[in-house]
Amino acid sequence: VKIADEDESPVRWFRINTILTTPEAFFKDHEFFRNLQPVSSIEELKQTGVIYQDDYITNLYGVHPRERVTSTPAYEKGQVIIQDRASCFPAHILNQNPNDIHKYVIDACAAPGNKTTHCASFLPIDSTDAVIYAFERDSKRVEILKTMCGKALGQHKKNLIQITHADFTSTDPNDFKDVTGMVVDPSCSGSGIFGRALEDSQKEENGDQEIDTERLNKLAGFQFKIVKHSMKFPSARKVVYSTCSIHPHENERVVVDLLSDPELKKLGWKLDIRANVIPSWERRGWKEEFTSLGNAEECEKLAGGCVRSIPKEDGGIGFFAACFIKGAPGNETEA
Ligand code: SAM
Repeated sequence: VKIADEDESPVRWFRINTILTTPEAFFKDHEFFRNLQPVSSIEELKQTGVIYQDDYITNLYGVHPRERVTSTPAYEKGQVIIQDRASCFPAHILNQNPNDIHKYVIDACAAPGNKTTHCASFLPIDSTDAVIYAFERDSKRVEILKTMCGKALGQHKKNLIQITHADFTSTDPNDFKDVTGMVVDPSCSGSGIFGRALEDSQKEENGDQEIDTERLNKLAGFQFKIVKHSMKFPSARKVVYSTCSIHPHENERVVVDLLSDPELKKLGWKLDIRANVIPSWERRGWKEEFTSLGNAEECEKLAGGCVRSIPKEDGGIGFFAACFIKGAPGNETEA
């Protein structure tokens, strides 16, 4: 089996870490980035020496994968965070409305911490009462999470993220009464990551689908459990569920199961509408997966509450995100 290496990524994406700098100061301070020529599309990143500012995610830039971004002083200082564009979707979706920034957030599956620090970057720079609670179950990965968050926050902001080494599903929702926003990015098959996507498609060609389905369904069951737990927090009104999988078993089918769950229905959880979930991103959820929940028009609306990204074709990894909402007036879905 051929494993595609990282350099086959069409774009090297990086986020300017606005916790430590501003885009203006960043380009002023760092000659390497200042000298890159702006281009207007990712297709133009086929050569080095150019830089693309993303249309969808604020403060996100793309360069040719051969650019040595990680060798720059800006990276050393934590001012640059390497993060695929689609992986930036969850924190962006959570805080899509600038008038409704979530100040108390849980990142349920946090390590290595890219989404954690991205959520923190939306908090007002002078806020003293905002917190991102980051949970990580794995003891090795929690250490990586601490390092990454420490680097991204710097000394003066280190209380912005509170890291807990624990299984998120064992937390008591009533201990987090202020939390309104949730990012749930659980373990998945990783089939959207280049090497693994290639492996999977070759397995299917070889007729190995059954083994995969069993594994996918097991992962999906775990994802359902952890997202459902996040929906029981008393003040939670927005939950963004994501995976780096391309398979509907883990993605749309988990969403359908959550929407069909009697307890969650009673709590009022619904899928958000496209207008609130990166509306200009064309690739949405697979509407055929929602047929058990309504007619064609309703399926279209539900699929609109999800975004998908195809590996490479969409300029990075394969990804899925869905946005659930509950409660507050003006926060309801029409679907
Ligand atoms: N959100 C991360 C980021 O963007 O950097 C990537 C998260 S990774 C896909 C999933 C993580 O969830 C793994 O580090 C895994 O150890 C952790 N995890 C899995 N089950 C968990 C649980 N029940 N509670 C807390 N963390 C869990």
